[in-house]
Amino acid sequence: MAFVLPPLPYAEDALAPHMSAETLHYHHDKHHKAYVNKTNELIGGEHGLNGASLTQVVREARRGGDNKLFNNSAQLWNHSFFWQCLAPAKGQKPDGKLAHLISDAFGNSDAMLAKLKEEAVNHFASGWAWLVLDRGALRITSLHDADTPVVHDGMVPLFTLDVWEHAYYIDYKNERPRFAETVLSNIVNWEFVAENLDGRGLDRADQQPTTQREAETTV
Ligand code: ZN
Repeated sequence: MAFVLPPLPYAEDALAPHMSAETLHYHHDKHHKAYVNKTNELIGGEHGLNGASLTQVVREARRGGDNKLFNNSAQLWNHSFFWQCLAPAKGQKPDGKLAHLISDAFGNSDAMLAKLKEEAVNHFASGWAWLVLDRGALRITSLHDADTPVVHDGMVPLFTLDVWEHAYYIDYKNERPRFAETVLSNIVNWEFVAENLDGRGLDRADQQPTTQREAETTV
């Protein structure tokens, strides 16, 4: 049984110039793929995790203190969620129920984006900035390295921004603030973020393992 690399939900050059095809090529086809491969290698046989879904693997790895498996499977899930959080730039803005929740929590969407950017920029070293639903209200936070809402009860994921250096180095060199500002202002998939208000965000980046033969032909 094996997990697969989910295909990008848009063409490799669809987010340019805000995120280049070269970045997507390395980030998705190399980094994300490496987490898929490593997860598959680590669950090969001995864990009794055959048939477990990706989120079950992430939780079991955390529970059992298997850091290597946790880091790789959590990064597999985090990236699968992240790609869906982005969409080609079309002047999109949050609306409907999401816009109301944003006003309640932050005043307006510019203030919310400024806070998300601040969280992303000030997060020390590698990790992820998150917009989550916490007991019915929006909250901005960040998690270190591979840490993920999958193992945090009550953290309903709505949106994430990858702030690992591999996410921005090709396009922005060391300028994480410019990367965060550009992505947040232009290429967020607010429809996906709004969909996640139903509390099913975890499922949208989950997957069931497939047989190795299928996995090989899919990727
Ligand atoms: Zn990444």
